[in-house]
Amino acid sequence: MHVDMDAFFASVEQRGNPWLRGRPIAVSGSGWRSVVTSASYQARPFGISAGMPVAQAMRLCPALIRVEGNSDKYVETSEQVIALLREVTPLVEVASIDECYLDITGSLRLFGGAEALARRVKARIREEVGLACSVGVAPNKLMAKLASGLSKPDGLLRLTAEELPAWLEHLPVTELCGIGPRLGAALTAMGVRTCAELSRVPVAALTARFGIVGRHLHEMARGVDSTPVVPTEERPDAKSVGHTLTLDQDLHDREPMRRHLFRLAEEVARRLRKGRYAGRTVTVMVRYADFVTWSRQTTLEAPLDEGLAIYDAARRVFDGLRLRPLGVRLLGVTVSHLVHARDQLPLLPSLQRRRASVQAMDAVNDRYGEFTLTRATLLQMETRTRPISPSWRPLA
Ligand SMILES: [Mg+2]
Repeated sequence: MHVDMDAFFASVEQRGNPWLRGRPIAVSGSGWRSVVTSASYQARPFGISAGMPVAQAMRLCPALIRVEGNSDKYVETSEQVIALLREVTPLVEVASIDECYLDITGSLRLFGGAEALARRVKARIREEVGLACSVGVAPNKLMAKLASGLSKPDGLLRLTAEELPAWLEHLPVTELCGIGPRLGAALTAMGVRTCAELSRVPVAALTARFGIVGRHLHEMARGVDSTPVVPTEERPDAKSVGHTLTLDQDLHDREPMRRHLFRLAEEVARRLRKGRYAGRTVTVMVRYADFVTWSRQTTLEAPLDEGLAIYDAARRVFDGLRLRPLGVRLLGVTVSHLVHARDQLPLLPSLQRRRASVQAMDAVNDRYGEFTLTRATLLQMETRTRPISPSWRPLA
């Protein structure tokens, strides 16, 4: 079963403010250069969707109401939904802040079948959380996700194994999770538009063109997916803490970009320490003016939770990137491969002093607000970073 909250961030905002209900709203970061992270269903007929720059959305719908996002609110609501889903089965895989996969095989008898169970989940989320979601039930994750998508908004769709071929016959391949616009275009160039057409292409032709992905595509076209639902708490490697920053203007020079990376590293480090985590993999994300996004990472031997150390790693990655001549509009830093940090004093005196200063800064900032005490390099910098929400996963 795949549970997908409808227009999640926008719906949370509408839930909390009656005046926003029934109106076209867009949740975004602050500033005119930010992008829409969630659009209400009233905004969608205007062509507004997630990922679109706010300025463009405002041109499409001048009556659009902009709401600055509040990730704490969304995280809290998401945790509420996840807790409710875990009452149905312990096998809940949190795919993102507003999407979960559930293996309900063992719960069917107790709840009187898949549809009764799905209806009950929808009703409880509606009553206890006050939000609408769409639910797909199918023999595997790929098809369950397809079903929830087809049933939106506020829908419920069950696809049985017998019905799958009929559903896939005319379905555009790009409706399948994992086949994005680029892969879709490559397939169109091969004369393949629907799943049925894709399933008729010999595997050899697909692997010749797409490598290992080719075999996977062949299976997807037939609705085959054998990946299990992996409960999130059993997959610590999937956890990450990241922040992004949409720049006020496109940057071309590396030096100011490095300073932004430093600030992002400090913020990520701060969140890691709050959650008592440290991580070994540091990923840098660069999004260009044309929205093409690159990310590169490095994995270190020891887990990190200090801004300076994370920045050192991020800077090495960044300096190794050959930037395209286009301006850069967004930067991001993510730390993954998290472990629970032990509060152990480092052995070297120089590192002990550094640790003590970090702890002193944390104590001040806990009390007086983020960046009350900061590094001189970071003074007078813009402060509008935000946590990377699509990849958010619960830390506990
Ligand atoms: Mg959703």
